Amino acid sequence: MKALVYTAPNTIEYRNELDPNLVADESLVRIDAVGICGSDLHAYLGHDSRRVPPLILGHEVCGTVVEGPRTGVKAVLNPLITCGECDDCVNGLTNLCKDRKLIGMNRPGAFAEFITIPTKNIVEVPIDSDSTKLALTEPAAVSLHAVRLVEKVAVRPISEGAALVIGGGAVGLFCVYFLLDYGCKNITLAETNADRRMTIEKLGLCDVVDPVKTDLESDGFDSVLDAVGNEHTRRSSIQAVKPGGVIMHIGLSDAHGEMDVRKMTLAEVTFIGTYTYTALDFRVAARKIQNGEIGTLDWVDERSLAQGSTSFQELIQGQVASPKIVLRPNNL
Ligand SMILES: [Zn+2]
Ligand SMILES: [Zn+2]
Repeated sequence: MKALVYTAPNTIEYRNELDPNLVADESLVRIDAVGICGSDLHAYLGHDSRRVPPLILGHEVCGTVVEGPRTGVKAVLNPLITCGECDDCVNGLTNLCKDRKLIGMNRPGAFAEFITIPTKNIVEVPIDSDSTKLALTEPAAVSLHAVRLVEKVAVRPISEGAALVIGGGAVGLFCVYFLLDYGCKNITLAETNADRRMTIEKLGLCDVVDPVKTDLESDGFDSVLDAVGNEHTRRSSIQAVKPGGVIMHIGLSDAHGEMDVRKMTLAEVTFIGTYTYTALDFRVAARKIQNGEIGTLDWVDERSLAQGSTSFQELIQGQVASPKIVLRPNNL
């Protein structure tokens, strides 16, 4: 099969790979659409020690089952493989499973024509649904989980306060949609890429600002959702959050750097980390996309798998106006 293989930092090769081997309790899936995630870029730059080359990256997938008990079914794949038996799994917190594995990290990913995955990770979707849109289930599930946690922890409901989202990729944009879903009427999204800002502005969902040119209001937001996660955005988050407010740390571009722990302490700021989603968040996100509850999703940039390497380079250089590139291994 054809696949995009991350072979060394800054290198992705489009080449022939052996078809995956089917083992017990797994299914073979033909990939229709697969999104490029910020974490794939992070790996591509050689910044993720968990993703060791040579490796097929990619974990935001919609495909069709071609071998296994559910052959013929169209599906989104929950890329997080969990044991189902540890205390966290049994408690519904599958994302915290001690034995968790992610496709495109601990096993081959989806930048390929085919993939194998445990059959239990297959989430069926209608046969006539749009593969490219459904490939956004994974980032949508991340955002749904994050906004759900903010609502749970915040002193006052999301609907009563102002929210700041940092980062205008798919995760940041989906955070805006779910904040709207929770009734938030005052949302600002900060994005440094001018083309991407324009794409999001056109959707008319929220205020869109350039954090380099516009000072974000200090103590101005009840909740701040950081979909980037580096030293700079963490500083901005702490500065922008109101006393008693919530910072939701979603992205993890860079784990190091200083934070204003003084303000966090004296202003009783709640700082929450979040990792992926529960199995149910994933299903709910798939359902919301199918039902058209998260907008028309027509801001996706569709490309062929062969354009993978160029796409990575363009994303790194900030030349992509769309919040998400989706590759179509078998269709373009
Ligand atoms: Zn992702
Ligand atoms: Zn487990």
